[in-house]
Amino acid sequence: MSNKDLYQLLGIERGTSPDQIKKAYRTMANKYHPDKNPNNPEAEAKFKEVSNAYETLSDPQKKQMYDQFGSAGANMGGGQGAGGFGGGYNAQDFDFGGFGGIGDIFETFFNQGGNSQSRQSKKQRQQAMPGEDLEMSMRIKFEEAAFGVQKTIKLRRVVACEKCQATGAEPNSKVVRCQRCEGSGMIKEVKRTILGQIVTNRECDSCRGEGQIAEQVCQKCTGQKRHAKEETVKVAIPQGVDDGAVIRLRGKGNEGLQKGNEGALYIHLQVEPSSKFKRKDFDVLSEIELHILQVTLGDDIEVETIHGKEILTIPPGTQPEKVFRLKNKGVPKMNSGDIGDHLLTIKVYVPKKINKVERELYLKLVEEAGLKMKPGKSGLLW
Ligand SMILES: [Zn+2]
Ligand SMILES: [Zn+2]
Repeated sequence: MSNKDLYQLLGIERGTSPDQIKKAYRTMANKYHPDKNPNNPEAEAKFKEVSNAYETLSDPQKKQMYDQFGSAGANMGGGQGAGGFGGGYNAQDFDFGGFGGIGDIFETFFNQGGNSQSRQSKKQRQQAMPGEDLEMSMRIKFEEAAFGVQKTIKLRRVVACEKCQATGAEPNSKVVRCQRCEGSGMIKEVKRTILGQIVTNRECDSCRGEGQIAEQVCQKCTGQKRHAKEETVKVAIPQGVDDGAVIRLRGKGNEGLQKGNEGALYIHLQVEPSSKFKRKDFDVLSEIELHILQVTLGDDIEVETIHGKEILTIPPGTQPEKVFRLKNKGVPKMNSGDIGDHLLTIKVYVPKKINKVERELYLKLVEEAGLKMKPGKSGLLW
């Protein structure tokens, strides 16, 4: 029985996840369980085989050994599915002990409830640990948001420890099997309940579930394998961004471990309000106050836009709140050559103070306009 491929026995392929291995085992164990197959030596043998296979494949260390030897054996023998156990390692070395192993099945079944992820040790889970994303906010000026800007920021991120090569162990110190959990990364706890014995697994606190531990902890990262580091990062803010925009910088979050990807850095932009301009999408808005005579008679005025000063002709008789559109004088769009417009709203002001001569001229205008009105005699303001 030891020559059969353990994966084949469970009807699965190499590389199957621990959860799937467990599932496959449950299916097989159910099928060949002695209770369901009384007086059936074949089923009993099969049951032992699959249980044995599971015992190996559910144990990360045993599985790793099996995978190594197995694949080496398969390569040499050229036959797929050859067990290929080399050295003194044999599936039969695990003493199944008659039906003594059935208890293990119930343990396995009892372990199904709840979060199975937490019951797997880190060893069993994918080794790769991706780095965390980082977030920060950045204030930029109105014009910087419009035209884009290069910023240099100081960033505190977590990087893989270069001193210990992210092993957590001082250079020249060994990483050894954790004694507390015997390398499994999990600590078994057995509780007796009215339902029987319930076995729970929890992460080993000595090795944090990794099954191995540094003999001498790296001093730079205190065994954490990563450490915080201040870095200078150049950030290119593209043109056309607006308040609340988020810039994502790939790979500038924390570094991962065991080939886990780096996280991203998310920069939340806050655009400082401008004293001159407001913004609506890609249009820039501003107001200008003109004397009543300017709008009455018309004028050429200077308008400030984010692109510089422009001359705008105000036609005679321009009304208050009139909006002039200055084409392509707004915010450049991010991914195209398009540019928004500048919308200028005309405000009209009435002078609070006029002199005697002005008053006389105004009175002449009243006469000329044929207005029937009764002007104040001695205005507060003149
Ligand atoms: Zn280190
Ligand atoms: Zn441990």
